[in-house]
Amino acid sequence: MDAKTYFIEFSYLLASILFIYGLKGLSHPQTARRGMNSAAAGMLVAIIGTLLHHEIIDYTWIIVGLLVGGLIGAAMSIWMPMTAMPQRTALSHAFGALAASLVGISEYYRHVVDLGETLPSAKMAALGFEVLFGSLTVTGSLLAFVKLQELMRGTPITYKGQNIINVSLFIAAAVIFIYLIYDPSQTTLFYVMVVLSFLFGILLVLPIGSADMPVVMSLMNSYAGLASAATGFAIGNNVLIIAGTLDGFSGFILSILMCKAMNRSVTNVLFGAFGSAGTDTSSTVEGTMREVQVDDVAVQLAYARQVVFVPGYGLATAQAQHAVRELAEALQHRGVLVKYAIHPVAGRMPGHMNVLLAEANVPYSQLYELEQINPEMPATDVAVVVGANDVVNPDARDNPKSPIAGMPIIEVDRSTNVVVLKRGKGKGFSGLENPLFFKPNTGMLYGDAKASLTKLAQAVQQA
Ligand code: NAP
Repeated sequence: MDAKTYFIEFSYLLASILFIYGLKGLSHPQTARRGMNSAAAGMLVAIIGTLLHHEIIDYTWIIVGLLVGGLIGAAMSIWMPMTAMPQRTALSHAFGALAASLVGISEYYRHVVDLGETLPSAKMAALGFEVLFGSLTVTGSLLAFVKLQELMRGTPITYKGQNIINVSLFIAAAVIFIYLIYDPSQTTLFYVMVVLSFLFGILLVLPIGSADMPVVMSLMNSYAGLASAATGFAIGNNVLIIAGTLDGFSGFILSILMCKAMNRSVTNVLFGAFGSAGTDTSSTVEGTMREVQVDDVAVQLAYARQVVFVPGYGLATAQAQHAVRELAEALQHRGVLVKYAIHPVAGRMPGHMNVLLAEANVPYSQLYELEQINPEMPATDVAVVVGANDVVNPDARDNPKSPIAGMPIIEVDRSTNVVVLKRGKGKGFSGLENPLFFKPNTGMLYGDAKASLTKLAQAVQQA
């Protein structure tokens, strides 16, 4: 090995260490920012190492690619709002998987079609895997983007025999893949496999509703990672193998964690068409909704001992993270003990609430996870639900027939008083009615969450 090769391998090793360190940092809100920075630094080191590769004879297209990719990445991170983060992630997965897929196709073309070589089975297996999973991730992620961006309806699109058609299509692509390992020279079959994989990505995501899309995207993330790892094997690149494997398995673990937090199985998410017209929406609603006014709530809050805020998707759409912190500070100023209850699937992506509250400099010590806060609910004077719905729906606990039965919830209904901040009678993402809103100890404060919180903070200061 010459000095340059040593340097490249060293940069890959350093990048891998930085990726692992980054992942470790992401496991806690307090270290998440540092984790992101070290992962980004790792990517920079890996890119620099790759740019020194011996096989590069002309940098023109690489520079064009760096400029175009860098500009798209910068534009997305600057202008896409936090509420559009799931769509943004879907696009990133689509681009990453497209890169893996194109590398696989061009490697196959170069060796088999251009040079007329016979690919060794191991290399063909790696290439085939990369193209199969890369291609289905491209179209699947693009469709996820289209649904989340509401460019088409987000509800599941189902038809008779759908699961059988999907599974058959995947088996056909997998059989071709296995055949190609034995006979890589069948170029037509290779391209049929590519087309089937692209088609399978679309058909896989069609029956999945927007509510389940974050789980699907994290699975796609996992596929894109495994496709990149396969690319690493195919082109003999260590950093791709390591980073792809990390990506693949962390995406898979995240999908499982999200499913657990919703009490659903991965197969139910993928094949259950949750939220389609046939979904049972039975609930145990009794009583009437009671509207409350800002001044009454402000007095209730100002004289409470303990107040727990439960943020949800509405906090994100209203961008009310700063307003909730200001109200919390006004209450603390009066000696009220303030806590925030964070449900693992509140909002639209994992860690959504943590990111928003961190942006508003809410102290981490005030954030409580579901298991920590639920035992404290009976001792809570007022639970303030800020744009959350499904994650506080008592039907998940009390009604075994509910589609969300068994999903762990933040048990706000066990606190002395509940105030729900929402704009009107809109449902949560599951489309279900919420009996919490009809309970005698619940008051509904209608209006945009940010405006309501701002008015409450002013009223508390004057109370
Ligand atoms: P949610 O059930 O979607 O409810 C959000 C509520 O916010 C709505 O009822 C809406 O009512 C209200 N709202 C919207 N805009 C508002 C505004 N500007 N001001 C005030 N209120 C506003 O939210 P959630 O309780 O956070 O639950 C998350 C859902 O997403 C769960 O079903 C979860 O399973 C699903 N999900 C999340 C993830 C994840 O990773 N986080 C992953 C997969 C699925 P109005 O229209 O009446 O205002």
